[in-house]
Amino acid sequence: MENTTPNPGPIPEIDAIYTWVDEQVAAASPRCEISGACCRFREYGHRLYISRVEAERLFEVPLPAENQTDESVSPETVKEVCPYQSRGLCTARGARPLACRIFFCDPEFDQAGQELTEEALKRLKSVHIQYQIPWEYRQLADFFDSTVQEKLLRGPGQAG
Ligand code: SF4
Repeated sequence: MENTTPNPGPIPEIDAIYTWVDEQVAAASPRCEISGACCRFREYGHRLYISRVEAERLFEVPLPAENQTDESVSPETVKEVCPYQSRGLCTARGARPLACRIFFCDPEFDQAGQELTEEALKRLKSVHIQYQIPWEYRQLADFFDSTVQEKLLRGPGQAG
């Protein structure tokens, strides 16, 4: 199904939420043992859920050159691996969604991570309300409709 939600343009409140989350995570300093593995969703047994405004923020970032292919942006492929990952690294760090910032394989961070997620989602929902954007919270792959695919495949500097 095509996205019919109008793109509201840049939303500064999202970056403020991300900064706040990063500060909370840095203070807790959870361990990351297998860096980048959780971005290979199928192999890791992981699903990445994000909201509409997070998706719009993420798609402002061009994909790494090797993933600017029809196959990399097909929903089936995105269910397997995030197209923003390149050689084990995230190429969209500044725009990566909440779940990417809060998820750690450190079991000692589970409880704090859940509480942080709850508070961050509350803040995210307020942004949706403020900008009158219906709340959508779906798997990353579900946002890869033809509009998003076209935007991402057109390349850096031409999206939007
Ligand atoms: S946005 Fe970055 S951190 Fe999140 S799944 Fe994709 S590559 Fe991994």
